[in-house]
Order: sequence, then structure tokens, then C-alpha cells
Amino acid sequence: GAPFDVEHIRKDFPALHQSVNGHRLVWLDNAATTHKPQSVIDATSEFYARHNSNIHRAAHTLAARSTDLFEGGREKTRRFLNAPSKDDIVFLRGTTEAINLVANSYGRANIGPGDEIIVSTIEHHANIVPWQLLAQQTGATIRVIPVDDRGDIIFEQYATLLSGRTKIVSVTHVANALGTVNPIQEIIALAHAYGVPVLVDAAQSTPHIPIDVQALDADFLVFSGHKVFGPTGIGALYGKKHLLEAMPPWQGGGHMIEDVTFAKTVYKGAPEKFEAGTPDIAGAVGLGAALDYLESVGLPAISAYEHDLLEYAEGGLAEIKGLRLIGTARHKASVMSFTIDGLKNETVAHHLDAHGIAVRSGHHCALPALRRFGVDQSVRASLAFYNTREDVDVFLAVLRTLPRH
Ligand code: PMP
Repeated sequence: GAPFDVEHIRKDFPALHQSVNGHRLVWLDNAATTHKPQSVIDATSEFYARHNSNIHRAAHTLAARSTDLFEGGREKTRRFLNAPSKDDIVFLRGTTEAINLVANSYGRANIGPGDEIIVSTIEHHANIVPWQLLAQQTGATIRVIPVDDRGDIIFEQYATLLSGRTKIVSVTHVANALGTVNPIQEIIALAHAYGVPVLVDAAQSTPHIPIDVQALDADFLVFSGHKVFGPTGIGALYGKKHLLEAMPPWQGGGHMIEDVTFAKTVYKGAPEKFEAGTPDIAGAVGLGAALDYLESVGLPAISAYEHDLLEYAEGGLAEIKGLRLIGTARHKASVMSFTIDGLKNETVAHHLDAHGIAVRSGHHCALPALRRFGVDQSVRASLAFYNTREDVDVFLAVLRTLPRH
């Protein structure tokens, strides 16, 4: 194919072209959130400037336009995930709200005392806490797939956790604190051998890896707009039709009903049943623009480019004195989590920031993952397809100048 033209791509991202603390901004905090191409900013502002109506198609002209634009975002999301129908796509605030929806709706209807929920050690808190809340309310138990010293899940241990008591497996595709790419297809296939549905947390994989929910045979898959170069406040749940149809609503309100009397409410079908209240209409439009952008660059090309960049960056990190890379899984995407002997993570992050380089220091909302490696914080640098070798070189050079005692 054509060479990956990163300089051309960077021109589309206005936020990348600024100086921070007197230096060119180097954005290596992509696992937390991503910058937006101009097309996303334009689609969002044009929505407010020209269309802006609540979604009730029949009422008037702007309402029809806004409804079509909102539903257009849903169709783009369907295509991005290769879902069979756009009715299988529920718009929510993001990954967190999507997992909470499944835990509260599917979970309460299907999970009871003595039942088991399987997650892994390397989940984001968003894929731990909703299940814990559910377990406390229902008397179910959480079982945890362990990881080895590299941060790969121990598949044989996963196999031993599955049983007739298992009611759902909810695992991440890419781990946000370590970068591990889980063997999600195998995880799903084995769960299905036990008749158990799987929720895939694709918050960290959607920016890096092509997703096909039908090829994966995922039962539920969730992601956030802001991590795929779209707006904050919007994300999606994909669910298999028969599962969504059987699930009760979670939140109640406008937009999700056919009829309401004080005796009884009749709900709409999926996805409206799960979209109570006025949704983030401009967010859905912006998300659609972001997915169009990703498609125009091409996720297979993005994956290949980022794979090289990550190898290059990790090669450089290996030469930094006292640096310990946390998470060296066989397959990784985007994330480099590390500590440096004798230095606080905060100090490292501030030193980088003083040179215009944005990384995150802290627990990355994945405390059990970090504690598995004997720490409860790290510095995390995370790549996107608009990062360059030059970004990595600057990052490594600044790490080499860290004041040591
Ligand atoms: N899961 C993973 C793997 C994540 O990386 C994140 C975001 N850091 C979330 C869930 C939560 O996403 P959000 O905050 O957008 O709801």
C-alpha cells in the first residue's frame, strides 16, 4: 500500500500544533484521550450552528435534519464495528456507562446468588466496579483471570475458572495500564463453549485495531468516542439483537417509550429502549465524523504504523538507566507504562511536561493491574497514529536528561 503519510495526517489535528512551556507539544497521553481532526470539530460546530434540534423527526425541518444526522452517526458506528444492524448500536456516554448498562440490565435479569462473573486482573476500574456493585446486590461472585509476569492473561487459568456457574465474561481487548492485547477471539470462543456471553471492553482497542463484532462473535462490545478521535460524552454499546431485545431498560424517561399510563409503560425496542432522555446529538454526529476519518486513514495501516513506532520507542526505553517497563506482553498496543528507580512518577511527568511532553502519571484507573507488578502508580506514555519517530526521540532525549541524585 501507500506509505503512511504521518505529516499529512498531523495537519488535520489543530491541537497538535501548539507549543507548551516553550516547546513543541508532544502528545503521548492518547490512552487517556485523543485529539480531534478538524473534520470532527467542523461536524460538531456545524451541528450547533445550523441544525441543532432535539430528535423528533416528524415535528419540523430542523428536527428531521438533526434526527437524520444522529441516526447517521449510528449507521457509521454500525459500519465501524461491522454490526449486522444499526438497531444493535446503543448510544451512551462512553465505555463506563455502557458497562454499567449491561451490568444493571443484563446482569440483574440474569445473574443471581452463587453465579459467577469473570473479569481479568488487567481491567480498567470501569470493568470492575459495576460488576462488584452487581455482585453485592445479587450475591454473585467475581472470579479473576490472573496474568503472568509479562502481563499476558494465563489462558489455562481462564479455562479452569469457566463453569456452569459462570454467567458472563467481561474482559478488555487492550489493557489500558499495560498495553496487553488479549487473545479476545479465543477468550470468546471458549466462553461460548460453556454457553457464556462475553462483553468486550474495546475502549483501548478501537483506536488501534480493526474490530469486527461478527467475526469475533462478541455478545457485547463497548467503546468511547473520545478515544477514537471523537468528542467526549458519547460512546456506544454493541449488543447481539436477541440479547438487547430480552434486556429490560435501565434508565427510564423520554424517547424510550411507546406509551405511558400510570398503570403501565410500554417501551420501544432496542436501541431506543436504552436511550432515555435527550442524547448527546452533536456528540453522535462528531463520533460519526471521527469514524469516517479513521476509515479514510485505515485501521490496518494504523496498526502496522503504530506497531513499528511502539517497537522503536520500547527499544529506546530499554536503554534508559533504571527504567522498568511494566507490561511486556507478546502482543501490545500503544501503551508504555514504566517507573524509574529513585524518581517519583510525578517528578518524571512534570519534567516531561516542562519540555512540552504530555504523559500520564498515576494509577490509570487500573489499580489491580499495577499492584500485580508491585506498584500502585506508573508513568504512562501512549501512542496514536499521529505520533512520529521525532516525538519518540524527543521523549527519550528528555528522559535521558532527568536530574538524578
Ligand atoms: N476501559 C478501558 C480499557 C479504558 O481505557 C477506559 C478509559 N480510560 C475505560 C474503560 C473508561 O472509559 P470512559 O472513561 O471513556 O468511560
